[in-house]
Amino acid sequence: MTRFTKITASIGPKCEDVDTLTRMIKAGVSVCRLNFSHDTGDIQGDKIDMIRSVAKNVGVPVAIMVDIQGPKHRIGDFESDKHYPLKIGQKFILDSDSTPGDENRVQLPDMDVIHSLNIGDRVLLNDGKIELRVDAVFDDSVETTVVRGDEIWSRRGFNLPDTDIDTDILTTKDKADLEYAITKNPDYIAVSFVQRAEDISNVRDFITERTAHPIKIIAKIERPNAVKRIVDIANAADAIMIARGDLAVELPFEQVPAVSRYILRECRKLNKPVIMATQMLSSMVYSEFPTRAEISDVANAAYLRADSTMTSEETTIGDNPVNVIETMQKILSFSDQDTIDNPYDWSRMDHVPENDWSRSVSSMAFLNKASAIVVFARNTDATIQISCRRPDIPIIAVCNEQVIANQLCLSRGVLPICDISLFGQRDAFAAAELFGIRTGRLVIVDEEKISLRTLD
Ligand code: PEP
Repeated sequence: MTRFTKITASIGPKCEDVDTLTRMIKAGVSVCRLNFSHDTGDIQGDKIDMIRSVAKNVGVPVAIMVDIQGPKHRIGDFESDKHYPLKIGQKFILDSDSTPGDENRVQLPDMDVIHSLNIGDRVLLNDGKIELRVDAVFDDSVETTVVRGDEIWSRRGFNLPDTDIDTDILTTKDKADLEYAITKNPDYIAVSFVQRAEDISNVRDFITERTAHPIKIIAKIERPNAVKRIVDIANAADAIMIARGDLAVELPFEQVPAVSRYILRECRKLNKPVIMATQMLSSMVYSEFPTRAEISDVANAAYLRADSTMTSEETTIGDNPVNVIETMQKILSFSDQDTIDNPYDWSRMDHVPENDWSRSVSSMAFLNKASAIVVFARNTDATIQISCRRPDIPIIAVCNEQVIANQLCLSRGVLPICDISLFGQRDAFAAAELFGIRTGRLVIVDEEKISLRTLD
């Protein structure tokens, strides 16, 4: 059964051996995500080498995504392991003093953050379990009232859903991680806590100053101000990740599905692939089977025509990462075939001009009931554009460079292959045959030339 929605798998302790990775890639992983929040450069570098070698042995292209931590903010320390209760209505001070905190105050180590806060802004601590409201702002501290209380202890993360934080997108750690990651030629760099388009151009400048390798940039959308600026951010980036974990802390959680649909629609117009991320099969960290709600969440990503789903803890620390990928593959394969009454299918192309060439390719394929579209791809642009029309048939991309094939692994419905002789001969029939397509018609795209050929 053909699967169009791709699978991005986070790689961690439970799946970073050759055997498990081989089985995961055979089961359907197209993109491997390495989270640099957890390990230092050289350890991640060995994993990149291993993934490249496994993909080569399995004989399929696989994209490597390096995910950098970004400006994730944390409060300072309290005394040793002590937990302090914060009660509704009490005052709590966030300041620049590094002495251990107590029930009345704690350090906020980043002065940029203190200077960005305004009266009325919310400060969410510990994944939103605690909510503080800013009452007064001083030069080196802010006074808040506790609106939702819970226990607090050292180094908890915090989110500022109402605040435009005036801070560099790359922390010192990110810069060191990027310096190293770049030497490994990853296909994608995912940037965390993006707030504006300039964040992406700053990261792009950092990369292009150091390498000529065409690394693509994924903007992780996890802040409300990034949702508001999604068009500018998507235009600046090469792809988008809907990072629903932090997004559901910073936004009222009930808004996350609607926001996800909005992001998918806008990005499809702009020809930018989108990954739907986080907690898709969470219960499978320990359980052999997904919950009914998780099955529907994965299926919905296929119905919404996302480019890729993603696993996090399910594959990094879960009991059975291979089972997770097999489960995701099963749900996506079935749901991808279900085209009944789907408002996201190829025919809804009102968002692109009628004379758009990728729309013509998709319409031609549909009207001629084509079995596949074959693109001879010198770069990723044409294939991504066709993929964003969601033609719901395989798009075979014959590439002349491995990096192009790897990067196209993220795009919905694309079957990339790097084969220089096939590319040189422009043999669309042989390309289709490689993917088991022997009958029907092919729409063939070679630079500006679009043609229709019959296989049988
Ligand atoms: C998320 O918050 O959904 C996410 C993917 O980010 P991370 O796993 O890097 O915290």
